[in-house]
Amino acid sequence: MKDKVIRTEAEWRELLTPDQFRITRLGSTEEPFTGEYNDHKDDGVYRCASCGQELFRSDHKYDSGSGWPSFSSPFNDQNVTERSEISLGKRSTEILCSRCDAHLGHVFSDGPKPTGLRYCTNSAALKFGKTENISKESQYETATFGAGCFWCTEALFKTLDGVRSVKVGYMGGNIPNPSYEQVYSGESGYAEVAQIEYDPAIVSYPELLDLFRKVHDPTSLNQQGADVGTQYRSAIFYHSPEQKDAAVRWMETLQKELCKPVVTEIAPVEKFYEAENYHQDYYRNNPNAAYCRVVIAPKVDGIVNC
Ligand SMILES: [Zn+2]
Repeated sequence: MKDKVIRTEAEWRELLTPDQFRITRLGSTEEPFTGEYNDHKDDGVYRCASCGQELFRSDHKYDSGSGWPSFSSPFNDQNVTERSEISLGKRSTEILCSRCDAHLGHVFSDGPKPTGLRYCTNSAALKFGKTENISKESQYETATFGAGCFWCTEALFKTLDGVRSVKVGYMGGNIPNPSYEQVYSGESGYAEVAQIEYDPAIVSYPELLDLFRKVHDPTSLNQQGADVGTQYRSAIFYHSPEQKDAAVRWMETLQKELCKPVVTEIAPVEKFYEAENYHQDYYRNNPNAAYCRVVIAPKVDGIVNC
């Protein structure tokens, strides 16, 4: 199973719509026959609206007449957990996402064969993704971060579920086709960046921002560890208004937690110049590079708060 997703109430309120929050975090129920997926018949996978984990397949969806999306079995045994509860004197079994503990609905024993079960869910807890009729390419989005030495940034983002590829390169400078030497000089204006292609159905942009925070010190101006210069600046190059909003919210939230000013630059995406081949996949190709090993180990635990 993937790592648990744990967030504060404030973080969930920020990530979810009011209806999604009320249902998945407070255990509420949407009105029958009102949900987006009650009558939904497309082929694909229903993921958790809160964390992206696969919960149900369209193959197991059936019309129960209840007014809520109903499935005869979960995606697998690990992804949906069950919890007995007593409400108004009646015993029932709540179903939750095993990864983020989102309330999904209840399971009843009046379903169709062969399981005899009815997983009665709220549409607001789900996010549907087609498995056909969409080219795989269109499912991916791109994010670009500068967090000091790009060798280490690349290596860390490659460990994340839902990340399809990471390229290292240069962004935000003022000469065409920069070389590593020009960027290394600190006078080209470019930042070393990792450009990440990810599947937003599996890993969200705010989750990428979480890791971005952990891989570097966003309060350190133009310096990460021994690397000094504007090429090592903390930077988020956003690719959409949604990414920009998320980045601004991320920075505001982070600033409340940290004593020192957050100095991360938030700027619109510019032309990405891919770095020379020997910089790509550097950590994997140079596993004994003490430099990256030293940087990676301690930073994943995050930086020290106030
Ligand atoms: Zn979840």
